[in-house]
Amino acid sequence: MAPMAKTSLLALAPEALPGEGFRKRQLAAWLYEKGVRQWDAMTDLPKAFRAELAEHYRLSEFTEVQAYPSQDGSVKYLYILLDGQKTEAVYMPYKNRRTLCVSSMVGCPAGCTFCATGRMGFGRNLSAAEILDQVLFAAYHQNHSPREIRNLVLMGMGEPLLNLENVFSAIERMLHPQGLSMSPRRITLSTVGIPRGIYRLADSGLGVRLALSLHAPDDETRKQIIPTAQRYPIAEIMEAVRYYYAKTRRRVTLEYTLLKDLNDREWQARALAQHFRGISAHVNLIPWNPWPGAPHRGTPRAQILRFKAVLEAQGIPTSVRFSRGRDVGAACGQLALQQPA
Ligand code: SAH
Ligand code: SF4
Repeated sequence: MAPMAKTSLLALAPEALPGEGFRKRQLAAWLYEKGVRQWDAMTDLPKAFRAELAEHYRLSEFTEVQAYPSQDGSVKYLYILLDGQKTEAVYMPYKNRRTLCVSSMVGCPAGCTFCATGRMGFGRNLSAAEILDQVLFAAYHQNHSPREIRNLVLMGMGEPLLNLENVFSAIERMLHPQGLSMSPRRITLSTVGIPRGIYRLADSGLGVRLALSLHAPDDETRKQIIPTAQRYPIAEIMEAVRYYYAKTRRRVTLEYTLLKDLNDREWQARALAQHFRGISAHVNLIPWNPWPGAPHRGTPRAQILRFKAVLEAQGIPTSVRFSRGRDVGAACGQLALQQPA
C-alpha cells in the first residue's frame, strides 16, 4: 500500500495502538520513548507482527525533511508532507533546555499584515499525527529521545485555535504518560485571539499555557494589522482570557510584536497594562522580524526599551524576546517555506 493509504500510528492514542496490551506498550515505547522511525529497529517485536504492522500502518508523515541550521544553534526543519504540501518547525537548544516550535497548519488563514505565514495564505490544517511527527522527527534528527524535548510551543505556522480538534488531540498525545509524557506547564499554545477557542481550551482541562498575540491595546490599531480583529473585539478576547485564567490559574503570556509608529507608542503601553488588571500576566515584547516585501518596519531598540519601562512601571513583568534563527528565516513570523539563501 502507498503510505497515504495506510493508517498513521501517531493518529492513535496509545491505548488504541494495534496488538495486545503488552505489545501496545512496547509499540508506544518505540514511538514515543525511543523515537525510532523504522520497523526493523523495533527489535523486541516478533518479525511477523512487524511485517503485519508495516503492511497496514505508516511510521512517518513526511516524504522528506530538510534541516537548516542557524549560526545561533537553532535549526529550522522543512517537512514535505505526504500530499506534497509543506510545513515547518524550529528547534531551539539552550543549555539543557530543548524547545521545539511546531506548526498547526500549512500557511494561515488569519492574514496578519506583519507575518510572512499570514502573507502566504491558507494551505490546510495539519492532522494530529502531522503535528506530533514534527516533534518526533526533530528529536530523531538531534539524536535525542522525543521525551528529551522538554518544551513545546505552538507558535509556528498557523492558528492553533482554528484547528482545534487536531491540535487538542496532538496535545493529548504529548501529555499522555505512554506518549511524550510532557508536563502541561511546558506546552504553550499561542493564539491570535479566537474567543470560542480560548473557552474550549479552558474547559478542555488540558492545562497548557496560553499565549495571546494582542499586538495592540485598542481595536482601531489592531484592526489595521490583524484581520480577525474585525470579528473579535479586544474586550471579548480579554473576557475569554479572564475565564481561562480563572479556570486554570496559569499565568498568561501576552505577545506583542513592535511595529514602528503603529503600536509602539507610550500611551499604548499604558493602555495595554489596563487590560491585565487582576490577572497574572507576563508580556513578551518581540522585535519585529523582517521578511521580503513586508509593509512594516521594526521599532528601534531604544523605543522598545521605553515601551518596556512603561509596562514595568505599571507593574507588568515584561521581557524582550530576541528571536533566534533569523539567518535561516526561522524567527517568529518568518516561516513561509522559503529556502534560506
Ligand atoms: N497564530 C498564532 C501562533 C503563530 S505566530 C499567533 O498568532 O499567536 C507566533 C508569534 O509570532 C505570534 O505572536 C505572532 O504575532 C508573532 N509574529 C508574527 N510575525 C512576526 C514577525 N515578522 N516578527 C516578530 N513576530 C512575529
Ligand atoms: Fe496566522 Fe499567527 Fe501569522 Fe497571524 S501571526 S497570520 S494568526 S500565524
